[in-house]
Amino acid sequence: MHEYSFVENLIKSLEESIKKDKINLEDIKEIYLEVGEFEIHSSDAFYKAYEILSKNTFFEKVKINLKVLEPYIECLKCGKVELELEEEEHHKLNIIACPNCGEIAEIKGGRGVGKIEVILK
Ligand SMILES: [Zn+2]
Repeated sequence: MHEYSFVENLIKSLEESIKKDKINLEDIKEIYLEVGEFEIHSSDAFYKAYEILSKNTFFEKVKINLKVLEPYIECLKCGKVELELEEEEHHKLNIIACPNCGEIAEIKGGRGVGKIEVILK
């Protein structure tokens, strides 16, 4: 499943940055995370994958808070910003015809990891 490799990589990079920043693992209260909607199937699937993959690791005890970032359209030609994407527009392409002027517009915000915040006790 898509979530599994995503969460696996996430846990790995979290581990690395926690080590790098010399954060004491015991001091971590929770992790706040923003993820683009295209990266995951659903937040339920994400939490489930996190639960399974963090088992028997330090992260088992760390609460994770996920915020899903909704994709939006931004047209460079007319400046139209469309926040509500149609269901069929939730595709894998980054571009779409602008609903206002018909030019090629970019879909933003649905990809990647927006922000990771480690909240200490
Ligand atoms: Zn436009």
